[in-house]
Amino acid sequence: MKTKGPQAPPENARTKELARHSVALERRGIGAAPGIVMGPVFCALAGAVDVPRYKLEESGVSEELARFEGAVLKSVEQIDALKLEIKQEAGPAADELADLLDAHIQMLSGSRLVRGVKDRIQGQHLNAEASVQESVGEIARQYETIRDSYLAGRIHDIREVSARLTRNLMSAPIPRYSNIPDGSIIFADEITPADAALMDPARVRGFAAIHGGAEGHTAIMARSLGIPAVLGVSDLLGHAKTGDLAILDGRQGRILINPTENEIEDYKTRRALEVEEQRKLGRLRTLPSVTKDDITVRLSANTELPIEVSLANENGAEGIGLVRTEFMFLNRSDLPSEDEQFEALSSIVLAMDGRSVTLRTLDIGGEKFSDVFKDQYGDESPNPALGLRAIRFSMTHKDLFEKQIGAILRVAELGPIRILLPMITNADEVRAVRRLIENVAIRHYKDGILKSNALPPIGVMIEVPAAALGADALASTADFFSIGTNDLTMYTLAIDRANDQVATLYDPLHPAVLRLIQFTINAGRAAGIAVNICGEMAGDVRMTPLLVGLGIEELSMNANAIPGVKARIRSLDGSAARRCADTILQQSDRSRIEAILSDFNELFFFGR
Ligand code: PEP
Ligand code: MG
Repeated sequence: MKTKGPQAPPENARTKELARHSVALERRGIGAAPGIVMGPVFCALAGAVDVPRYKLEESGVSEELARFEGAVLKSVEQIDALKLEIKQEAGPAADELADLLDAHIQMLSGSRLVRGVKDRIQGQHLNAEASVQESVGEIARQYETIRDSYLAGRIHDIREVSARLTRNLMSAPIPRYSNIPDGSIIFADEITPADAALMDPARVRGFAAIHGGAEGHTAIMARSLGIPAVLGVSDLLGHAKTGDLAILDGRQGRILINPTENEIEDYKTRRALEVEEQRKLGRLRTLPSVTKDDITVRLSANTELPIEVSLANENGAEGIGLVRTEFMFLNRSDLPSEDEQFEALSSIVLAMDGRSVTLRTLDIGGEKFSDVFKDQYGDESPNPALGLRAIRFSMTHKDLFEKQIGAILRVAELGPIRILLPMITNADEVRAVRRLIENVAIRHYKDGILKSNALPPIGVMIEVPAAALGADALASTADFFSIGTNDLTMYTLAIDRANDQVATLYDPLHPAVLRLIQFTINAGRAAGIAVNICGEMAGDVRMTPLLVGLGIEELSMNANAIPGVKARIRSLDGSAARRCADTILQQSDRSRIEAILSDFNELFFFGR
């Protein structure tokens, strides 16, 4: 079993050299993805772009100079066009902006920046993008030593101009963090889910950011990829610089910058224990997920990216309980065709080799907006999480949605799949989506694209309070329920799951959330349809007795969490868990709930 993605290379010799510190600096945040790691820090500054860096052949120098001049020309044209736009809006602010743009144009004609870039291309044979980056870095360092507010403002302008030049030099955007040294721990202001999706677990040892909460999609992505992460770390960047050594503990939400020799020794001991623990859990891979009194609980994996399917297999997942199909729309500037979506989804279905795969339709909106959607359909409203998200977006842009449904129906012919609809609030929505799915099925059948127009099971995410309270009505239109505890908690408690400032209030054990879960389970049971949980609660071992005690038959979680949850289930007495869940559901006080669950966990898993 592999409980994490491929590991970064071993700490290099630099570790020793960096470790001669007598006092480490400690920063605390929210433990977002477990694992303890050590490595050099890479500080990613807001707005910084990763640029390629390479040496030019002698013969390529004049071509590179011409490429740079082309980028300068394009930048000037863009600024001129901006000036024209601004001219339409007369007023003092517009005048000020026009002056600023004039200054930018001046910077592009023989300024120190431009001269510096040309010198580097000619003298050092350095490519244009890296030359721009080096030149602006040099100017910034010089300006910083002169304490002058005018010059401080100028450096901001120089950075803006160089960012424009860099964009114009690079025809395709370079994924963020693709040029960082192997084995780095990234420190950033903010890491978006799209950024996290591009991280290679073989190269990024861990990451920390000032913003973000434990249940946001960035944290979910980190857990899935097995990259330890700490989010919501205030004052992170003020205390560290690129190249410092850091220890990051993603379970405790703790970071040590420039640790002492003792702390490094302690880290090594804890890391060895962690590896040993993972090795032990690995032995459970092929054993059934069943309690001591023979209650079977199916354990499936959630996937955000196709590369996680191998992790699902390695960790013994019995199926994929949630495919977040958003991955096909992230980090690109165009929309995927039906064929492209079919290819991507079929690779998942085929890799699961006959085990069920639940494909959730696009859940875009809120924090999950990718560039292509932001540009074309961006929701500028103050509350995007309450706006055109998920199924609402799909049913508004039916052309897009029909392509996705077409692809899903085609993969249904390759293996057992289920369709899952996100953010449903009422039965009419489900009926309307069913009609749309039926129409696509009939059309593709008539066109010979599908062999039959039969539909796969269509289920509903229960992730807004209205859906939970209306679960009895929804049960007549849905073939199964999947409880999304992440959003259910967020929408019930009015707590943004990705906002570190309210993270302490985010609480899936709140009696209101538990009652909604119970109501959903009862409604599903009465209607005879399956109810599973695919929110992060499913992968949290502390919750296992409660969820099994509530009668949940399938838990879907990040693949790395499966072995730990299975170990809990195998040592659990199902009837004791049921009594514990019954007692918990009678409580109205949140701290009593926490205490009862902790006592149960203590007694059953640690007290023997
Ligand atoms: C949830 O809300 O619990 C869920 C599984 O969906 P997502 O985290 O993708 O919003
Ligand atoms: Mg959700």
